[in-house]
Amino acid sequence: MAEQIGKIVKVAGPLIVAENMGDSKMYDVVRVSEKKLIGEIIELRGDKASIQVYEETSGLGPGENVYSTGMPLSVELAPGLIEGIFDGIQRPLNKLKEVAGDRIQRGVNVPALDHEKLWAFVPKVKEGDMVVAGDILGVVQENVVTEHRIMVPYGIEGKVVDIKIGEFNIDQTIATIETKNGKKDVCMLQKWPVRKGRPYYEKLSPEKPLITGQRVIDTLFPIAKGGVAAVPGPFGSGKTVVQHQLAKWADADIIVYIGCGERGNEMTDVLNEFPELVDPRSGQPLMKRTVLIANTSDMPVAAREASIYTGITIAEYFRDMGYSVAIMADSTSRWAEALREMSGRLEEMPGEEGYPAYLSSRLAEFYERAGLVKVLGKANKEGSITAIGAVSPPGGDLSEPVSQSTLRIVKVFWGLSAQLAYKRHFPAIDWLTSYSLYSDRLGDWYTENVDEEWTALRAETMKILQEEASLDEIVRLVGMDALSPADRLTMETAKSIREDYLHQNAFHEVDTYASLKKQFKMLKLIIENDKLCRNALSKGVELEDLMLLPIKEKIGRSKYIEEKDLASFDELFKEMKQQIVGLEGEGEN
Ligand code: ADP
Ligand code: MG
Repeated sequence: MAEQIGKIVKVAGPLIVAENMGDSKMYDVVRVSEKKLIGEIIELRGDKASIQVYEETSGLGPGENVYSTGMPLSVELAPGLIEGIFDGIQRPLNKLKEVAGDRIQRGVNVPALDHEKLWAFVPKVKEGDMVVAGDILGVVQENVVTEHRIMVPYGIEGKVVDIKIGEFNIDQTIATIETKNGKKDVCMLQKWPVRKGRPYYEKLSPEKPLITGQRVIDTLFPIAKGGVAAVPGPFGSGKTVVQHQLAKWADADIIVYIGCGERGNEMTDVLNEFPELVDPRSGQPLMKRTVLIANTSDMPVAAREASIYTGITIAEYFRDMGYSVAIMADSTSRWAEALREMSGRLEEMPGEEGYPAYLSSRLAEFYERAGLVKVLGKANKEGSITAIGAVSPPGGDLSEPVSQSTLRIVKVFWGLSAQLAYKRHFPAIDWLTSYSLYSDRLGDWYTENVDEEWTALRAETMKILQEEASLDEIVRLVGMDALSPADRLTMETAKSIREDYLHQNAFHEVDTYASLKKQFKMLKLIIENDKLCRNALSKGVELEDLMLLPIKEKIGRSKYIEEKDLASFDELFKEMKQQIVGLEGEGEN
């Protein structure tokens, strides 16, 4: 490509306009001024390009040079991604600090991944094998937890004429493939443009839950592996804690966590806390299956716009290996604000509340890259991306454009309520407004894998919670005394569901995670208690006496029963029965 050098004609914050850019393409990366700041073309008109610059633009002015690279904004995909902490355009934050000090300087050129480091490559094919894109050429044990599978890059197909074994860096040839267009050397590094989804064979409909260990989610509003969810809520309602809990506990192989435009200290929490966390499944640090992308509110706004594409492209790469990946974006509202700011600078016609008219389609494009798919390659494997976006509507008002656009796309809605958070009911997921469009389809899985009573138990639980809401109305109008003992029992059971079951303390060692088996036993205990009490009421036992039984307190503490002690639930069921039936005996005397 000809070395065309553009000239800046205008600087507007993170946006610059340059002329003499006619040879460039949309979304090409450019280097701006002699400082070589990284930018991306986001609009081309004639020979004028609008460029969003991923670094501070102060001090730039008209007349300075703009250098084309002829390449779209891309990520590096290879061993070294895991445990990485990157900014929105995949610059490694730790390396940047080493090179440039705490205050990140501009134009610093640091590759995303370490190109020197040697990785032990173990081949999975042999000379003479025919391979297609997506086939696994070999593996690198990136750490004790994650096996990094080296795939035949997209667009390559043919016969393996050479395959290596041993230690290589990511640029060295590990295989040579004889294709229709001649021999191609393949290294471990792949590059992929972030704004383009990586290809797969076909999308499948998700059938398995992503198990999160969070009771209100797994039991009432489950998300499928390959599903899409939104967590909207006002400031302080617990969006970030929900996202962290999912990153910590969800049974995904790989986690991609995008801290997107939230306050710097929240991301610092993630950066400090995650490396300390231990994966309950492997006993290893959780970072060993995690990639972090951090673009806090104090970092340039354009890089925030790019961060969700960088994140989802990395997620797709691991999906293509046949993994289940979960990606969290906290928060998509901050991302949309970056989009709005860039659109404003471009002087585009503003849509609702100043957001560009393409806000919905951009959001949809992001979430559409999630899903369960049959990945490329002959092995007929599946991979999934589950996407969970936090939404932070100003004042918690869901009528605003980002919430509305998101709600049209996602299939799970975990609505956080300011009122619940105020009462310190956490997670503050409102059981009356939240929903999961996967719950019916996942019912079979729960029935087969947890307990055949699961679906009935869940339905009963929802029914009691809804009855409570209507009884609440009556109580407000005429008082508790107007209720029959049976209705008052319903109120008591609903309270127990809320306080003993749905309430879950993210910061309590035991309570922070509950297996599906534990969830089932806890809930069954509560619903069984309701049934036994109802029966006792019909035999003349007083509700007050039932509520004073010692078992009530034990139900309340069942959340603290450790996973290894789940057998002790049997004892609780027995005690419960004895105590309640015992009262019936007294009633008859
Ligand atoms: P947001 O991201 O919506 O602004 P956060 O996730 O930061 O809100 O939550 C605010 C606070 O609420 C947390 O610092 C914590 O004290 C409390 N909180 C939220 N969720 C939980 C939870 N599951 N268990 C215990 N405390 C929680
Ligand atoms: Mg937050």
